[in-house]
Amino acid sequence: MMREIEEVMNKVKAKSDHQPVFIQAIQEVYESIEPAVKRRPQYIQHNILERMVEPERMIIFRVPWVDDQGRIRVHRGYRIELNSAIGPYKGGLRFHPSVNSGILKFLAFEQTFKNALTTLPMGGGKGGSDFDPKGKSDLEVMKFCQSFMTELFRHIGPDTDVPAGDIGVGAREIGFLFGQYKRIKNEFSGALTGKGPKWGGSLIRPEATGYGATYFAQEMLNGRGDGLKGKICTVSGSGNVAQYTVEKLNQLGAKPVTLSDSDGFIYDPNGIDEEKLAWVMDLKEVRRGRISEYAKKFNVGFFPGKRPWGVQSDCAFPSATQNEISGEDARILLENGCILVSEGANMPSEPDAVRQFIDKKICYGPGKAANAGGVAISGLEMSQNSLHYSWPREEVDRRLQEIMHSIYTAASETAAEYGQPTNLVMGANIAGFVKVADAMIDQGVV
Ligand code: NDP
Repeated sequence: MMREIEEVMNKVKAKSDHQPVFIQAIQEVYESIEPAVKRRPQYIQHNILERMVEPERMIIFRVPWVDDQGRIRVHRGYRIELNSAIGPYKGGLRFHPSVNSGILKFLAFEQTFKNALTTLPMGGGKGGSDFDPKGKSDLEVMKFCQSFMTELFRHIGPDTDVPAGDIGVGAREIGFLFGQYKRIKNEFSGALTGKGPKWGGSLIRPEATGYGATYFAQEMLNGRGDGLKGKICTVSGSGNVAQYTVEKLNQLGAKPVTLSDSDGFIYDPNGIDEEKLAWVMDLKEVRRGRISEYAKKFNVGFFPGKRPWGVQSDCAFPSATQNEISGEDARILLENGCILVSEGANMPSEPDAVRQFIDKKICYGPGKAANAGGVAISGLEMSQNSLHYSWPREEVDRRLQEIMHSIYTAASETAAEYGQPTNLVMGANIAGFVKVADAMIDQGVV
């Protein structure tokens, strides 16, 4: 590793030693952009590497609320505004008990390069809370969201910072957050994306991350004269990204056979078809139940506490959370003949797994490229809001496909330019980094 990169890594490790996923995300990016930094000494002269890992602003706040038993509860709220070099801060809100500033800094860091890859003018941010919506009533979720927004509203806005959903923040939560924002600000503006289609949301936004990860898989396979038709696919998670990945896989003639949640996974060798998926969507979005119920309903296997990577498949779509594919999982996937991994989740593969995918030259789409469809359509939601106009479904879907194609082209052409044509990690990282770094240099020491 270049001495200058090593020095920055040492400083980050010393400052953030209690934030292992943040360090992991930086390490992955900085290792792979080394050839670009060697070609462009200005990045060292302007100390871009050290500036890039220091968030422009971090907001941490108390979120008190009253539960259905009348008890006063308190959680911690966060917004990390990491980089605004190419546009307003943009990135989702995560509500999950594991949330802390290290996880959100890693997500905001990834988001910054992902947003640059979409070609839309969006900076990088992320936020959320250690609040767990699971097991809470709708009323409790509403009270929490209102309290959360009562502080967050002063930090966001359509030209400042535009949050969206992530784990634990779906259509219901965005509705409650938007309602409170509108009430406090007395304005109807696009300060959040992922809104309902009847009140400013873009069509295809709910589908965009899963559809996008599937389009990205198709792009990678097409690049090798292959396609998704007939492919057996493992999918993890059963939330927003997993559901729409399964939907698009079915539409493109592939066969998704697994889904999971934090309790375990189900394996349906006959395929999770459209009808079964509709049942899953109702289970997760309306009844808010567990994926194990699928096994009972459709008489298939449920594997408690396990992840689906041991199931024989051609393609894998990790769509749950970070570090859900270990080095050992990757070895098993490859042994079973898996030829493609398209990451709907952010950083789902541990570093050892990433190394194996790159070494074996399989089609490997890292999250910041493969799951960029969600934020891309959020970017289009912002445009539609400021135009006071909404585009039809077909128009948005066409734009999503074009954007996924252009991200694939940018990542693969950049990878080829640096002599490793199949290494989309390197390609995506360099393409995203260069755009943000050049903008930072243009804007001086800010
Ligand atoms: P959801 O909350 O809708 O679904 C998350 C799913 O993953 C649930 O099935 C959940 O199970 C499971 N899960 C979450 N945490 C864990 C864990 N620690 N261990 C095992 N399973 C877990 O979230 P999304 O579908 O929106 O997000 C999934 C991933 O995609 C995340 O990595 C997110 O950052 C990424 N992403 C999402 C985008 C979006 O537009 N929504 C955009 C780009 C990336 P359970 O219910 O049991 O917790």
